[in-house]
Amino acid sequence: MNEYDSNRILDLTKKINYSETKNIDKANCYILNTCHIREKATDKVYHEVGRLKKKFKNKLKPIVLVAGCVAQAEGEILLKKEKYIDAVIGPQSYHQINETILKLEKKSNPINFTEFEVIEKFDSLNLVKNSCNKVSSFLTIQEGCNKFCKFCVVPYTRGAEYSRSIDELILEAKQLVNNGAKEINLLGQNVNAYNYKKSRLSDLILEISKIENLRRIRYTTSHPKDFTDDLIEVHKNCKKLMPLIHLPVQSGSNRILKAMNRKHTIEEYLQIVKKIKLLNSKINFSSDFIIGYPGETQSDFSETEKLMKEVRFINSYSFLFSARPGTPAFDLKKVNQEEAKSRLIHFQNLAEKIKIEYRETLINKISSVLFENKVNNENRYFGRDEYSNSVIVESNRNLVGEIKKVRILKGNHNTLFGEIDSNLNQSNYAA
Ligand code: SF4
Repeated sequence: MNEYDSNRILDLTKKINYSETKNIDKANCYILNTCHIREKATDKVYHEVGRLKKKFKNKLKPIVLVAGCVAQAEGEILLKKEKYIDAVIGPQSYHQINETILKLEKKSNPINFTEFEVIEKFDSLNLVKNSCNKVSSFLTIQEGCNKFCKFCVVPYTRGAEYSRSIDELILEAKQLVNNGAKEINLLGQNVNAYNYKKSRLSDLILEISKIENLRRIRYTTSHPKDFTDDLIEVHKNCKKLMPLIHLPVQSGSNRILKAMNRKHTIEEYLQIVKKIKLLNSKINFSSDFIIGYPGETQSDFSETEKLMKEVRFINSYSFLFSARPGTPAFDLKKVNQEEAKSRLIHFQNLAEKIKIEYRETLINKISSVLFENKVNNENRYFGRDEYSNSVIVESNRNLVGEIKKVRILKGNHNTLFGEIDSNLNQSNYAA
């Protein structure tokens, strides 16, 4: 979502004649868009600003703005501790960025914009064309969260759940497709909580899928509680919807899920997986895990391993519990850190083994790959298959924006390598 926000900030600032520079040394305005989800986020801000200070030691100081969730959570502290920062702008206030920059050009006092003005923000953004021209583009459809998992900062930094109107989203999606997008990733902290005048994510997906020249749709991140039957059904009815579902579970233990206030059980989670697999057995899952949550025992951890073996997530993101200031879990007694680290290593080894086994099944098989860009200056092209796996092929022809049938030849941890199957690509295959 920060990538989407950064692009929109850029679109907004074009209105006051600012443009992006790849040469930081020449920048006269520096915007650091931050994420607060992991530990040390604030330290990273001070570190970055410190580097900037050094860079501009003997030059005219640029305007320095900190945007995003660190600005929201620690705005006033940042301004007090680091005088080089001129303004902080929270994720729901960045439509005020031009006003802020114009004030700072006239040497104003430090500025703090950290109100939750999400409706106003999107009203302002709707007036500015989305200029992102990536083959695979992001589109924020929903923001904020009402779930209040005990470890998470999102409800405090992004505010309550808010869904954008279908009309404005269709308009923005069409802009992205006209700019060259072939794939749209619908974004939300709780994307499947999308609810605009009773229209749900499933309705939005079906509407967006009608856009000509749009080939693929993805959405992230979902919550099991909001994984309703209409969304499950849409995976059968919408051919443009890709068969990978990112469905964070965090733990395999009901006791820990309850302690986290996740609002669902493992049985309910597995029921969703089962229903989807019955509908389409080719759909795969990825997930997020927190290892070593306060109170986690070896037996709870074994439940998490059991879940991993049962669902066989093709991708997973696992982290040690990181206590975030301001969340209810911050003051909870931590589990023994040595034990937690050892569990994390075990878990990641298991996840890796499953991932390798899965990737081996792809060798010598045909995948549909949407090519996103050329790799450096070589005749190699990077794309993603339907499951978001990175694929590289060689080609003398420009493949950017095309979907091709690719025979996978080999792969490593991150990337699959293949060749275009010329026989299969003679006819026009859809994704
Ligand atoms: S549902 Fe997701 S965004 Fe909301 S509080 Fe829980 S982890 Fe955070």
